[in-house]
Amino acid sequence: MKHLLEKDPVLSRVAAAEEVLWFNPKLQPVSSGLQELPLGMEDIRDAEARLARFAPFIEACFPETAPRKGLIESPLTPIPAMQELLEERFDAVIPGKLLLKLDSHLAIAGSVKARGGIYEVLKHTEDLAMEAGLLKETDNYAKLATPEMREFFSKYTVQVGSTGNLGMSIGIASAAVGYKVIVHMSVDAKQWKKDLLRSHGVQVIEYEADYGEAVKQGRAQSDADPMSYFVDDENSRNLFLGYAVAALRLQAQLKEQGIAVDADHPLLVTIPCGVGGAPGGVTFGLKQVFGDNVHVLFSEPVQCPSMLVGMATGLHSQVCVQDVGLTGMTEADGLACARPSGFVGKVIEPLLAGEVTIADPKLYHFMRALLESENIFLEPSACASFQGAVELLQQPAGKEWCETIGLTAEKLANSAHIAWATGGALVPADIRAAYEKMYL
Ligand SMILES: *Cc1c(COP(=O)(O)O)cnc(C)c1O
Repeated sequence: MKHLLEKDPVLSRVAAAEEVLWFNPKLQPVSSGLQELPLGMEDIRDAEARLARFAPFIEACFPETAPRKGLIESPLTPIPAMQELLEERFDAVIPGKLLLKLDSHLAIAGSVKARGGIYEVLKHTEDLAMEAGLLKETDNYAKLATPEMREFFSKYTVQVGSTGNLGMSIGIASAAVGYKVIVHMSVDAKQWKKDLLRSHGVQVIEYEADYGEAVKQGRAQSDADPMSYFVDDENSRNLFLGYAVAALRLQAQLKEQGIAVDADHPLLVTIPCGVGGAPGGVTFGLKQVFGDNVHVLFSEPVQCPSMLVGMATGLHSQVCVQDVGLTGMTEADGLACARPSGFVGKVIEPLLAGEVTIADPKLYHFMRALLESENIFLEPSACASFQGAVELLQQPAGKEWCETIGLTAEKLANSAHIAWATGGALVPADIRAAYEKMYL
């Protein structure tokens, strides 16, 4: 362990489960940072076009998406009362405008997983239907919702390993298409998420083990069945691209709201991170769209900062949080991934500004603060998104970093900081009431 901790000065504090703020020494300007990546803007546009083709199908299966004509998208909203409360109660200094990206309220899955997870199921669906000669790109994809097509898809199985939300997104979307679905749930998964999936006819297999083991078991079972497709959260390029489309949508929303992003108006974004797919995909998209004017921080629990450990050691998926003496245990089930995605870590190495970590009780303090100030409910994992704005100018490392990269007081005053709210809308009332009383 000692040799691991020597790889970056932050790691001894990470190993002591302190709340840290770390900046990525491998960050590059986009002119070089985006150059060598295996994916580009054309891949994001391709994913965006596929989602547009599927919109009539989504609208047919999920009437809740009718107001947006089958596009799954969430509001971006200023949260001035929360900003004030964070400054008052948590001694934060937040210049500029604090905004919330409400992926917590995305249709169908109630979490950011409605982006990547549903996209991957749709991509697989298109592949199968086209291979079988049942679909052309120019067709109205609503035809995929007919009984004959459901019959076709019912011969196939989709499987996934999950701590909860990915399973809900893949499970609900796959069941809607007509697939047999098996979700392999890790020990962290909340009971209500398993119950909800079973009510959609999804087979849920529960493990006493962590997320990594659930993925391994799911992958093995799926590989043994030629009719089964495995959604590989640790390595999936499709999931990643589904998440990346968020950046194009955000660009339009910022424009609509008259919020500039340029050299004098920097955009800061904090995204809660588990295995890395969701925040990594969003980051990749944001850097493609906003270039060097966007600065993305990931936020992870102090006992499970897997992406931070992977990035700061440079070992990515070759290291897990237990290797630096942490437990990997956290109330934030959406972030409880002890080993980061190697694929994502390598792609975002030149793009990610840095990371913050957060102690579990604070997730609940932020949750109550948001309810009190804005009457918006987020699940605990999603509340990690406030830690970036709260810590950036509170910790000396943050102030120093701002100076180093030229984020002057004037620019910060013109900035927008987006807390990316990754989940919450599907939390049942009784669970929510229990959350509201935690760590009081
Ligand atoms: C999945 C999830 C994340 C993080 O996504 P990863 O792809 O695991 O990094 C964050 N918040 C919530 C609520 C999630 O469900």
